[in-house]
Amino acid sequence: MEQDVIVAKRAGFCPGVKSAIDKVLELAAGQKPVYTIGPLIHNKQVTDMLSAKHITSIDIPQQASDKSGILVIRAHGITPQFQQEIESCGMEVVDATCPLVKHAQNIIDKFARKGYHTVIVGDSDHAEVIGLMGYTQGRGIVVSGPEEAQKLPTFDKVNVVSQTTQKESVFYQTAEEVKKHSRVCQISNTICQPTKERQKETIELAQNADLVIVVGGKHSANTARLALLCKGLSSAVQHVETETELDETLIKQAKKIFITAGASTPGWVIDRVADRVRQLRGTIHK
Ligand code: SF4
Repeated sequence: MEQDVIVAKRAGFCPGVKSAIDKVLELAAGQKPVYTIGPLIHNKQVTDMLSAKHITSIDIPQQASDKSGILVIRAHGITPQFQQEIESCGMEVVDATCPLVKHAQNIIDKFARKGYHTVIVGDSDHAEVIGLMGYTQGRGIVVSGPEEAQKLPTFDKVNVVSQTTQKESVFYQTAEEVKKHSRVCQISNTICQPTKERQKETIELAQNADLVIVVGGKHSANTARLALLCKGLSSAVQHVETETELDETLIKQAKKIFITAGASTPGWVIDRVADRVRQLRGTIHK
């Protein structure tokens, strides 16, 4: 029988998130308490696992109860100003900023130092974007898409960059709009390669499915964006955090099901969802 439940090959942790989690778990195996600046990722199952290992999320170094502990900067990165503050607080600091976020920070920094304004296509309240804004020399503006870009003022020189998890079509449509507002327009596509590959796979497989199940935290921006992308490709899309939220009727009715997940969803959560889906369809083979 043709495979009717397909799990995305690129579902789950992206390399940046995986490396940050591995780093924190390795540190937690030592003697010192570990503090992350903000939650490592927006996934309840992972944050519960980290708290069980006494890895604590704090907002500022002053909140660390044990100053002999280690502070970890998460994969999203932070502003250079905050980085300086953390590095001078006297505690040991481990920087787990994803190299692909660092790449985006460097591109912003390079053009901002040459006098360019920066337009970031992304979510203004997302930690990565807040960090990126810190590199704009105070000349950064965040827009969510082409509609918001229409309201931009005019610039002499502008560098358009993207949140690393942005949808590529939204980025290019927005960049085209920004172009109309500036004499010189540098377009820097900083969407990371793992996100591009995930989006490509999702587009190919979601449009052939009768039901798409997107697994991931309800507060995870990248999972929400993935679910939105799928809604434009398939007639039925369900966003679930765990297998307990699955819709049995939808699963039994659908001929082809595609299961995918955000960059912050652990593999074990995806496996449980996939197993439950196969069980409900009676196709699980032991
Ligand atoms: S989504 Fe991309 S840039 Fe962001 S942490 Fe993952 S690999 Fe790095």
